[in-house]
Amino acid sequence: MRSHLLNDTNAERYRRTVTEGVERVAARIAATDRPFTGITADALAPRIESIDLDRPLGDTTAVLDELEEVYLRDAVYFHHPRYLAHLNCPVVIPAVLGEAVLSAVNSSLDTWDQSAGGTLIERKLVDWTTARIGLGPAADGVFTSGGSQSNLQALLLAREEAKTDSLEKLRIFASEVSHFSVKKSAQLLGLGQDAVITIPVDHDKRMRTVALARELERCAQDGLVPMAVVATAGTTDFGSIDPLPEIAELCEQYGTWMHVDAAYGCGLLASVKYRDRIDGIEHADSVTVDYHKSFFQPVSSSAVLVKDAATLRHATYHAEYLNPRRMVQERIPNQVDKSLQTTRRFDALKLWMTLRTMGADGIGQLFDEVCDLAVRGWELLAADPRYDVVVEPSLSTLVFRYIPAAVTDPAEIDRANLYARKALFASGDAVVAGTKVSGRHYLKFTLLNPETTVDDMAAVLDLIAGHAEQYLGESVVRAS
Ligand SMILES: *Cc1c(COP(=O)(O)O)cnc(C)c1O
Repeated sequence: MRSHLLNDTNAERYRRTVTEGVERVAARIAATDRPFTGITADALAPRIESIDLDRPLGDTTAVLDELEEVYLRDAVYFHHPRYLAHLNCPVVIPAVLGEAVLSAVNSSLDTWDQSAGGTLIERKLVDWTTARIGLGPAADGVFTSGGSQSNLQALLLAREEAKTDSLEKLRIFASEVSHFSVKKSAQLLGLGQDAVITIPVDHDKRMRTVALARELERCAQDGLVPMAVVATAGTTDFGSIDPLPEIAELCEQYGTWMHVDAAYGCGLLASVKYRDRIDGIEHADSVTVDYHKSFFQPVSSSAVLVKDAATLRHATYHAEYLNPRRMVQERIPNQVDKSLQTTRRFDALKLWMTLRTMGADGIGQLFDEVCDLAVRGWELLAADPRYDVVVEPSLSTLVFRYIPAAVTDPAEIDRANLYARKALFASGDAVVAGTKVSGRHYLKFTLLNPETTVDDMAAVLDLIAGHAEQYLGESVVRAS
C-alpha cells in the first residue's frame, strides 16, 4: 500500500496516475456536446449505492472507468456555452495547474512552519487585491472558503468594533436582494436574523439610499447601534450594484462599518472597461471577493479584505501548540491569526498562477466579454415579445419570464416558466436558473462564459418557449 504514497520513490507513479486522470477529463471535456445529460438523482443513486467501498478496485484505470459511470459522464459542465445558470465560471487552465500543484505539495496556510513561501504568496495576493480596491496602506485580509465565510468574518469584525455592551442593540442594514449569508451570519453571531434591517431596492435592484438614511436615523433615535451596512456590489440575482459612494457617506455620518459584498462584482477589479462601476468600494471597512465567481478560478478561491489590519485581531487566538504569542514578537507570519479556519488550503496559488500567466488584464478582459454579452442578451430579450425582462445588466445576469400573449393568469404563467426550466434541465440541452421577482417566477441567465454567443442565448430562449408552450398546450387539454 505504500506504493500509493506520494513520495520520492513513487514520483513516477504519481506522474503516470495523474496524467491518466487528466487525459480522461480532457477527453470528457472535449466530448461534451451538452452541459448536462439530464440524469435524475433517482436514476443515478443505485449506481453509487451498488458500489462496495470495502472492496477497492486497486487499479487506477478501473477506478477511472467506474468514475465515468458515477460522475464524469453525468456531471454538470460549467465550461459548456449553454450552461447559463448559477455563478459558476469556466475555469482557466493556469488555475487548474495551480490546483494540481497545491494539492500535491499540500501546504497548510495556517502557520509559517506548514507553508513557508505559500504564506508570502497569499499575502502578496491579498496586498494586490487591497491595492486594486484602494483600501490604503493599513489594509490586510485573508483567503477564505467562500463568500459566505468572508461575509461572516467581516460581520464578526464589525460586531467587535461596534460601540455597545449589548448584542441586542446591534443592527445590520442590507438590501432586500442581498445574499442570504448576511442573515445567516447575524444568526451565527448571536444577533438573530431580526437584527438585519432590510432596505428596499429601486427599479434597478439597487439599495434605496433614502430608505437606508431613514432606517439609520430611526435606529439612532431608538437608541440602537448601527453595526454595519452591507452594500452588495453585484447581487446574486440581478448583478445590481448598490450606490457605493452614497452608502459610504451614510456610514461615515452614522459611524457605521461599511461592508461591501463583492463576491460577484469583484471581477470588475480586473476589468479593462468597467472598473468605474464599483467606484466607492475603496471606502469600505471590509470587502468580500469570490475569485471563484468572476476571476475564472476553481472552487474554492475567495478572500475577505479589511481597511484596517488591526481589526483582524478579533479573529486571533493563540494556542501553545500552533501559534504561541511569542511568534508575533519573533515576526513569524502565521496566517491562522487572521482566519476563522485552521488547516487551510493554499487556494491563493491558483490566482497566483493565473496572474503570472495571463495577467490581470487577461482575466479582466474575459469578465468584460461576459458583461458585453449580457448587454446583447438584454437587447435580444427586450426585442422579443415572448419575454418580459427585468433590470438592464450591470454585470452579466439577465432575469426574464416567458409571457405568452394568450395567457393572462399570472399563476399559469408561473407554472409554465417553472415547467420550462425543469424540462430544459431534464433535456440537458441547457441549464438556466430561476428566481422570484415581486412574487412571480422568473428565469435567469448568469453569463460567465465568454464562449457563450448571442446565438446560444437565442437558441436557449427558443427552447424555453417551446417547453412553456408545450406545458400551456397540455394544460388546455387538462382543463377541457
Ligand atoms: C455567491 C455569493 C455569496 C456567497 O459566496 P460563496 O462563495 O457561495 O459562499 C455571497 N454574496 C454574494 C453577493 C454572492 O453572489
